[in-house]
Amino acid sequence: MYGDTRARLRAELDEIEAAGLTKRERQLTTPQSAHVGVATAARGSGGTEEALNFCANNYLGLADHPDVLAAARNALDEWGFGMASVRFICGTQTQHTALERALADYLGTDDAILFSSCFDANGGVFEVLFGAEDAIISDELNHASIIDGVRLSKARRYRYRNADMADLEARLQEAADARSRVIVTDGVFSMDGYLAPLPEICDLAERYDAMVLVDDSHAVGFVGPNGGGTPEHFGVVDRVDIVTGTLGKALGGASGGYVAGPQEVVDLLRQRARPYLFSNAVAPSVVAGSLAALEIARDSSAARERLVANTALFRSLMTEAGFDLLPGEHPITPVMFPGEDGAREAGRIADAMLAEGVYVIPFSFPVVPRGKARIRVQLSAAHSEDDVRRCVDAFVRARG
Ligand SMILES: *Cc1c(COP(=O)(O)O)cnc(C)c1O
Repeated sequence: MYGDTRARLRAELDEIEAAGLTKRERQLTTPQSAHVGVATAARGSGGTEEALNFCANNYLGLADHPDVLAAARNALDEWGFGMASVRFICGTQTQHTALERALADYLGTDDAILFSSCFDANGGVFEVLFGAEDAIISDELNHASIIDGVRLSKARRYRYRNADMADLEARLQEAADARSRVIVTDGVFSMDGYLAPLPEICDLAERYDAMVLVDDSHAVGFVGPNGGGTPEHFGVVDRVDIVTGTLGKALGGASGGYVAGPQEVVDLLRQRARPYLFSNAVAPSVVAGSLAALEIARDSSAARERLVANTALFRSLMTEAGFDLLPGEHPITPVMFPGEDGAREAGRIADAMLAEGVYVIPFSFPVVPRGKARIRVQLSAAHSEDDVRRCVDAFVRARG
């Protein structure tokens, strides 16, 4: 009997609405790209309008790249639509293994194992590798999937302040009596575009005999000279033990995630990781498209260079125009609206920009700290120089 539950759920929804926290999904009428159609039906016109998209994780513009589409389309004929099986029963095609090999080679690890998503990769990895005798030491700003994954393990849990090495060191000292220790961090913190200080983290890891696990979802494909991610950027590939990541961002943006690391880690995850054992294999067309995307990221620096140039242009034009940006070089570029009135101002500006056909997203408390509201702009290699200039012009006009 649904009964009283309806009223309880209704009240919770009303609370979310009253707090101004209801998330409303805009409906795209086109493939994901730098230019998208946005349905205006919600506003009663039943039409669609074009928008310039500055809020996707489509960093390399591969979500609708012709070579990725061709590989995925071809895979429908060659490999079928679905696997209808988990990997270990009859759900492993040779191309699943090829994608795992290609990921491991790209990231410089022994091997890699695919999951349905990075959420699942993070959901599976900790419980298998760390037991009650072990300690997991996690950055406070780590992704929700890491937080949930850590909860599923029986290990002792420690949290350190974001990128604060003194605090990390104190936690390592507290965890000194554990059987083993692992430091867990996002490679890039997605609200700020800041990179985790991996060389310092690796120094501490070596001093306190800890492993290092990096979730590099917002980096692999475009951060580092070859797109190998934050360990490559910092020259610490050999000092980072395990990398998790997604196929749902720069590498084509479809779906899928992975854990890459030492052979025993990958082998044991294949035996024990619950989201791997009890969830369907990644779809054949997604595997083929992701492999094509990975090859583009690996073999050509053209898209990476365009992304770097677009990010630099946006940052310099916005700074010239007097906007307050968080420093950095990552294509996540937060435009800050500090102070008490910042959240309202960021919301107003984002709305005014959408009315002009430029799609950006404001973030305020509780997603970011109070008084640190921002519009998070995400550049892509798919943007033209003109697209970047149009975005800056829209910011200037919206500010008034
Ligand atoms: C996006 C993201 C994930 C989730 O990836 P999915 O493959 O979409 O589940 C996990 N971790 C981090 C750091 C992310 O940015």
